Amino acid sequence: MKVYLKTYGCQMNERDSEAVAGMLAARGYEITAQEEDADILIFNTCSVRDQAERKAIGKIGILTRLKRRKPDIYIGIMGCMAQNRGQALLDELPHVDFVIGTGQLHRLPEILAGVIAQRHRELRVEEDHAVLTGMSTHFSRGNRISAYIAVTRGCNRFCSYCIVPYVRGREISREIADIKHEAIELVAQGVREIMLLGQNVAAFGLGGNINPPPPDVSPFADLLTELNDIPGLQRLRFTSPYPSYFNAKLIAAMAALPKVCHSLHLPLQSGSNAILRAMNRHYTAEQYLDIVGQLRRAIPDITFSTDIIVGFPGETETDFLATRRVMNEVGFDNAYIFKYSPRQGTVAATMLDQVPQQIKEERNHILLDDLNRRVAKHNAELRGQIVEVMVEGPSKRNCERWCGRTATNKMTIFDPAPGLEPGDLVQVKITRTTAMSLFGQLTATGGAPV
Ligand code: SF4
Repeated sequence: MKVYLKTYGCQMNERDSEAVAGMLAARGYEITAQEEDADILIFNTCSVRDQAERKAIGKIGILTRLKRRKPDIYIGIMGCMAQNRGQALLDELPHVDFVIGTGQLHRLPEILAGVIAQRHRELRVEEDHAVLTGMSTHFSRGNRISAYIAVTRGCNRFCSYCIVPYVRGREISREIADIKHEAIELVAQGVREIMLLGQNVAAFGLGGNINPPPPDVSPFADLLTELNDIPGLQRLRFTSPYPSYFNAKLIAAMAALPKVCHSLHLPLQSGSNAILRAMNRHYTAEQYLDIVGQLRRAIPDITFSTDIIVGFPGETETDFLATRRVMNEVGFDNAYIFKYSPRQGTVAATMLDQVPQQIKEERNHILLDDLNRRVAKHNAELRGQIVEVMVEGPSKRNCERWCGRTATNKMTIFDPAPGLEPGDLVQVKITRTTAMSLFGQLTATGGAPV
């Protein structure tokens, strides 16, 4: 049977879809990218915004016509919205055959087999820690050099705007040996870069304790150290860390380990201490800047990206200006700037002083303008320099040119040389830059000049 898998949302969802595809392929299902060819359609859904849920429900809703035409197909919903809405989805969408929440994904093949054998509808949303170890299979779509590994699941922090702790459950971590085993297998399949994933990834191994550990304790640093030793692995990245876990041990490990990339996604959310408090974020703007300063002193070429919410309930012009000031002070090289939208089921959705949409739009524009100007300037400073790039392959816009990323996560476009392969590390001399990309010429491939 052919399975079509559609993924909404974050990298964790992409990772889960990859694992589900891997488990199904191992049981003889064929994974197809063509929706119309599929016998089984599975939607891996996101709950972070109401809009994300509406989009998925809209898409799945119109499949009622397809099901009428082809009554033998199976339609399933998995992931965060499945966890969040459960039985309501089966009630609202009578053509859906199964709904499987985030804690049951490792059982998806056996649940699907039951649905097919008995032609019944199934709802499974129990939390089960076995999902952590049961999801290490990978499905490879062709030639790939990068892969995700989920190292923690769930979150205990309960930021007041966020639905994740309710749909992904309490924070749990895998064992280092188990993660290392998965990484070694991926490298044997040709993977050169691993992105470690967790909703609160730097809290790895702390047993769900939300209090930051002492300066010399960081199980996450121990994990990075173990993975750094894997022969053939070139680069390690991770996302998303909560700022408070960057202690002396973790910063020293990041600086000392050659495979840990010098680019860090460090969610700020707001530069106003009053708004951070209202968000239930347990750090101040000053503490955030202090962490950035420590990281910069230890890793001078590090680049930062972040998440920002504008228009959080109660955000005044002064609060907004504080965010703008902190953003400019850090000098982020990328930022995901969100206009706050209430998420049903969270504390912030019940807050009274909601900010008008027009003000959110204006604040969003101002921060985006600042960002674009700043990144264009940062990139221009790289003109004439030689940077190391991991080759990804032909550029999507112009397949005669190739692309790859620097360790600081800058997309770089260059003319290919004979024998170049995805995953190679090359040296590129930068000749032109924009706010989005660097352009240049190869000067060396794998140590050999071109
Ligand atoms: S730390 Fe991240 S995932 Fe956890 S509640 Fe806060 S925003 Fe959500």
